[in-house]
Amino acid sequence: MTCFRFAPSPTGYLHVGNARMALINWLAAKHLGGKFILRLDDTDKERSKPEYADGIREDLAWLGMAWDAEEKQSDRLAAYDAAFEQLKKAGRVYQCYETPEELDYMRKRLRARSLPPIYTPPSAEKLQSFIDEDRTAHWRFKLSPGTIAFEDLVRGPVHFEAEKLSDPVIRRHDGSWLYMLPSAVDDRDMEMSHVIRGEDHVANTALQVQMFEAMDAPVPTFAHLPLMTDIEGGGLSKRLGSLALRDLRADGVEPMALASYLAHLGTSDDIKAEDSLEKLVSAFDFKHISRASPKFDPAMLSRLNAQVLHATDFADIADRVADGIDESLWNAVRANLERIADVKLWFDIANADIDPLIGDEDGEFLNQAASLLPEGEPDSETWGVWTKAIKAETGRKGKGLFMPLRKALTGLDHGPELKSFLPLIGRVRAVARLQGQKG
Ligand code: GLU
Repeated sequence: MTCFRFAPSPTGYLHVGNARMALINWLAAKHLGGKFILRLDDTDKERSKPEYADGIREDLAWLGMAWDAEEKQSDRLAAYDAAFEQLKKAGRVYQCYETPEELDYMRKRLRARSLPPIYTPPSAEKLQSFIDEDRTAHWRFKLSPGTIAFEDLVRGPVHFEAEKLSDPVIRRHDGSWLYMLPSAVDDRDMEMSHVIRGEDHVANTALQVQMFEAMDAPVPTFAHLPLMTDIEGGGLSKRLGSLALRDLRADGVEPMALASYLAHLGTSDDIKAEDSLEKLVSAFDFKHISRASPKFDPAMLSRLNAQVLHATDFADIADRVADGIDESLWNAVRANLERIADVKLWFDIANADIDPLIGDEDGEFLNQAASLLPEGEPDSETWGVWTKAIKAETGRKGKGLFMPLRKALTGLDHGPELKSFLPLIGRVRAVARLQGQKG
């Protein structure tokens, strides 16, 4: 069975970095006809909050990713205990007693001697002295010496020498779990065929490969993706707040714009807005993912957002725009929108009084233009007929003809095609504006 998972800790809202991991897992699962599981890594009781779990579900749904099942680590403590007992029997976990300060001191001493900061268990005597002091134990997983090798779908063959890694702490003295073993137990029990995550987990993978082997479980296929940084290459963390999905959503980012960006970013694909997740699914290929850290550029996201809006039919956004905004307005202005909320600006320009923008030298020209405006309410033919007449009468053409008309009619020097916007302004307002009156 092909099965992927997204395993966030519900200790905060999703940001673009973890949304990208979710999306890659989802795309790969769909591409391969497999399952996609949402697994909440909520063993940290203090920091995990139901509102964050709700937020994660909401954000995934907004991006269009459905999950086939949801699992929660806090429901699975018995499975971790059983796996722990199994490893204990096999001699693969052992008790340790050092305090964090002692561990820190040991690492510093090793570094001072230019040695790698690898944990070495204490001598039998030292161990006994810890026990005599009545210290409570925490637990480490015992690595077997030798090479740990796995094939990474993005990084290619990966090797670690177990001797160069510390035996990882897997359980705290109060019995609570660190990330490492529960994740491997879940991947075993939920039959994950693939584990796709950030490259900050590569060394964890080496340790977990040995855990799978020690539990007699199949080792999943791994891929580790380079982590996204911001445009200066400085990592995302300092700006996480502004890159939370819910903030982007509130800011008018379209889900297809973000999904297109996150799927194409850091790959050999062209970065462009797609009109459906299905297109991203069929184009997905691990081979396209690059090993360099992708840079998240908000300006690029805005461009994709504009592309999505340009291609969106009114019926698909009708319930997201203010009352009064109709299909003809939408069709006239959608090519000029970066955010859906901008449509209101054009609605107001068409329907409310504005101050026309008229240069001193254009007053007379615009009066002339007003008198040439064809009778009756303007329609889609009017602009062509009218500007031809103005050109014939005044000799103006190109920008010298169009820009003064645009500024007078809309109060701005940029905007939608006037051919379709003029009918929305209507004759009365158009004439008033051309004559320099508020209208
Ligand atoms: N909860 C872990 C994290 O967010 C999961 C890592 C994994 O995918 O195994 O880093």
